Amino acid sequence: MFESLSDRLGGVFDRLRGRGALSEADVRGAMREVRIALLEADVALPVARDFVEGITEKAIGQQVLRSVTPGQQVVKIVNDALVEMLGPDTAGLNIDVSPPAVIMMVGLQGSGKTTTTAKLAKMLAGKERKKVLMASLDVNRPNAQEQLAVLGTQAEVSTLPIVVGQQPVEIARRALQAAKLQGFDVVMLDTAGRLHVDQALMDEMKAVADIARPNEILLVVDSLTGQDAVNVAQNFSNQVPLTGVVLTRMDGDARGGAALSMRAVTGKPIKFAGTGEKLDAIEAFHPKRVAGRILG
Ligand code: GDP
Repeated sequence: MFESLSDRLGGVFDRLRGRGALSEADVRGAMREVRIALLEADVALPVARDFVEGITEKAIGQQVLRSVTPGQQVVKIVNDALVEMLGPDTAGLNIDVSPPAVIMMVGLQGSGKTTTTAKLAKMLAGKERKKVLMASLDVNRPNAQEQLAVLGTQAEVSTLPIVVGQQPVEIARRALQAAKLQGFDVVMLDTAGRLHVDQALMDEMKAVADIARPNEILLVVDSLTGQDAVNVAQNFSNQVPLTGVVLTRMDGDARGGAALSMRAVTGKPIKFAGTGEKLDAIEAFHPKRVAGRILG
């Protein structure tokens, strides 16, 4: 991913570097190209606009244009701004609390939420040697709870026994109780998804968050959905106090727009990237590394 954005920006940068003096018009022309490259990568329009406005102001500053290497300096301004756009390097999960730490997973149906729950649980249980309990609060989709139980078996992570007829808030309460009684370090709550963001879903999430008091609320979004992913993130972040984002399907042919817009839109870091269907296919998201990949 990011290849075409990387190529486009590389072309703009080569042209800038190749020139001695730069006029204000040259810089504005280059910035227009940066803007087009971002939009083609499916970066949200307001995000691309703000980004280019910010760097244009810096780049047409007299110190830059009068310097010995204006091209280099403009390139550096774009680079620095891209790194900033992706956010500071993430601090990982906030789970070093008195146990059990609670991680609530939210997102639309099909975003990869349940798979990501199991991937993170497996990672915490393996690498970090945490005792993890997963619970599915999805009472709407038939077999959602069974799906998590199957993934739990594959990941060798415990899941809360299913009690037919229980509602999400009751299940969350039971998961917390079980975790306390049985000495689990981390409880992962896989909430119900919906096809679209709707008020019933938001109310349910708020009710669960009220009683579970999560240390992390992670929004799972499908990076392949580009602009839609950004809209979903905006909707969720307006209604629940997200602590981070997980972008799934980064192994697909995404143009990168969702990753680039997410931080600006939600103000929250991308913490992990899903890179495949297998339960090991998850990576910590490192903004600097990703920026490096884009900038070549
Ligand atoms: P949910 O409805 O949000 O819980 O979505 P699921 O976890 O059931 O995932 C839907 C589909 O996406 C499943 O077939 C997953 O294997 C697949 N999936 C989830 N994450 C990734 C990912 O990072 N990459 C790829 N290629 N597939 C994924």
